[in-house]
Amino acid sequence: MVRKASAAAVVLAAAAAGFAVQQGWESGIVWPEPKVVAPGAAPGAPPADAVVLFDGKDLSKWRNGDKWEVKDGYAVVRNSDITTKDSFGDYQLHVEFATPEVVKGSGQGRGNSGVFLSNRYEVQVLDSFGNRTYFDGMCGALYKQMPPMVNASRGPGQWQTYDIVYEAPRFGDDKKLVRPGYVTLIHNGVVVQSHYELQGNTWFDRAPAYEPHPPKQPIRLQNHGDPVKYRNIWIREIAPVVGVKPAAKAG
Ligand code: MG
Repeated sequence: MVRKASAAAVVLAAAAAGFAVQQGWESGIVWPEPKVVAPGAAPGAPPADAVVLFDGKDLSKWRNGDKWEVKDGYAVVRNSDITTKDSFGDYQLHVEFATPEVVKGSGQGRGNSGVFLSNRYEVQVLDSFGNRTYFDGMCGALYKQMPPMVNASRGPGQWQTYDIVYEAPRFGDDKKLVRPGYVTLIHNGVVVQSHYELQGNTWFDRAPAYEPHPPKQPIRLQNHGDPVKYRNIWIREIAPVVGVKPAAKAG
């Protein structure tokens, strides 16, 4: 007759026999089950829970979107910045861009655009393929704050990817900074910013400084006078899974 041995009995028997018994550590935190998200069908394609901001057909999700040219599955910068009609807090943002095939200008005047997180923190877009400028103004820089760790730029006219993980700064009721913003940036599959702590607004002519704002803000794409192309833009808002640690039992 087979009897089920209790866990304790097994441990005692193993210990008596001289086996080392390893018990797995458990945090005791009760986690909700992470939800299923079907990843994109191909690298760079939007996952199932993404909000597609531009699918190559129209810029109806953007203010001033009608000022840019949309053709052949991409949009071309013209006339003005464009800004999402919706606002977003913490997110993963995928953007594809191409600086002009016909190279004109130099330094900041060559393929300049930008992705403004929270409508004010610029991740620089620039043709940095064989084009020198100040390092904290290169493609992949947090403008005037932090150069990219490496220059992963592709050549003029080639499609490039930005995958951005962004945590917006938080401000208290007294308007003081409670927690800075953080930016991780993967440029063409290469990490160029890793959880960079934002220093504040990325102005051209002033030192960075924070100005209080609600956590959810639009995303802005810059018109810097260069016909940079964009396509396949999508976003997923993110939040850590929150577990519960049950109160310790008395005794
Ligand atoms: Mg720019």
